[in-house]
Amino acid sequence: MFKHRVFRKQQLTFMILNFIAFTIIFTVFSVIIYSQVQTTLFSQTDKELLNFKEMQLNDPFMEEKRPMRDEEMDQGPPIEERPKNNLNPRIIVLDWTKEGELVNQNELGSLFYENYLQDYELNLTNLNQFTNIVINDQYHFRYLLFENDTEDNEEVAYTQLIINTDAEQTILNNFGKLMVICSSIFITLSISASYLLSKKMMKPIIRSWNKQAEFVENASHELRTPLTIIQNKLELLLTEPEEKIINKFENIALSLSETRRLSKLTSDLLTLARADSTETELTKQTIQFDSFVKSVCAPYIEIAESQEKHFWLNLNSKVTFEADDVRLHQLFVIFLDNALKYTGEHDSIGVKTYMEDQKVVFEVTDTGIGINEKNMNSIFERFYREDKARSRETGGVGLGLSIAQWIVTKHGGTISVFKNQHKGTTFKVRLPK
Ligand code: ATP
Ligand code: MG
Repeated sequence: MFKHRVFRKQQLTFMILNFIAFTIIFTVFSVIIYSQVQTTLFSQTDKELLNFKEMQLNDPFMEEKRPMRDEEMDQGPPIEERPKNNLNPRIIVLDWTKEGELVNQNELGSLFYENYLQDYELNLTNLNQFTNIVINDQYHFRYLLFENDTEDNEEVAYTQLIINTDAEQTILNNFGKLMVICSSIFITLSISASYLLSKKMMKPIIRSWNKQAEFVENASHELRTPLTIIQNKLELLLTEPEEKIINKFENIALSLSETRRLSKLTSDLLTLARADSTETELTKQTIQFDSFVKSVCAPYIEIAESQEKHFWLNLNSKVTFEADDVRLHQLFVIFLDNALKYTGEHDSIGVKTYMEDQKVVFEVTDTGIGINEKNMNSIFERFYREDKARSRETGGVGLGLSIAQWIVTKHGGTISVFKNQHKGTTFKVRLPK
């Protein structure tokens, strides 16, 4: 219950974080696109306003080139004699006096002036800057206001070039609306995506939490069993304090064997706990592999002989490479210990070393009881034993191969297991040179 509450809370946190991240990315993206579109849209009008300004300030005949208004059309020279006007007809020129009076009201045409500019006043705050304005709460213009000290008209102090940008503004508004629609679709999608992602992110956490809980449960169970046995045997001894040791030999021997089991178990648990916390680092040394394997196997050859088992060596790697000799020794002990444990009289155990695709390979093979093929993937799991009852007799807890796998992985190698053609098991380890 508690566990699930913690998981749900964590998943919600992940979901909110994902959602915030998505939203920030999308917002930044939208702002960039929107401002890019805005700049592109207005860049042409700005260029034209600037051109007009340049001409206005530098061209002495500019006055005559301005777009003509109604009255001028009526009064001016005949059409064919008028100067050619190459300027954008959308641009309207407003000439202002220092006091903010419009000088060229007549040029603009009375209809235009009365409809749009009657209430418009000079505002000097955005001098020399491109500025957007809305006239009559409806029409969009962009203007460029600058000081005009050309000599042709003493009265004029400022000139304002204004251009109607309703078309651009409509495009921009439509684009903005599209952005809003896209944002709402995106928000809905990102909520679902955040939920799915957070669920995916929780999966490995839940898996390792469950694994850890299972590990602790198994470990305490394995620790409790030998402790109970030792406690019972010792209590039994205490009930008969007069008895001689020789008569209670069995009890004492069993307690001792359980103590040994406990000590192996705790050291295995410690190895795995350290492996999990990645606290353990390898201390690599140069190893002459074949002679190293020979020396590791030596005591096991004797034990095998005493158990009427045949032990053979086939050392052919002829390689010297870098490895952690203590961990490698531990690795061989795990395999040889298993080979001895899971073989009977007259079975054979062998160790083979060779090179394959630039990799150092060794195999530990036996003709023992073998492993059921469907369990082959499970044997590397912690506390996994094929036959729990027999393992209890032989003293195994099912941690050996998990440690072996960790040692091999830590060395950058791979481990595999096969069923022998006739009988028994082969473990094959490939290590990088
Ligand atoms: P320990 O932690 O003391 O090594 P264990 O030997 O039971 O206990 P592992 O070495 O991890 O545990 O092996 C896991 C299981 O794989 C064993 O219980 C056994 O069932 C099976 N197994 C391992 N090696 C062999 C082998 N050579 N032949 C047959 N079965 C094996
Ligand atoms: Mg073992």
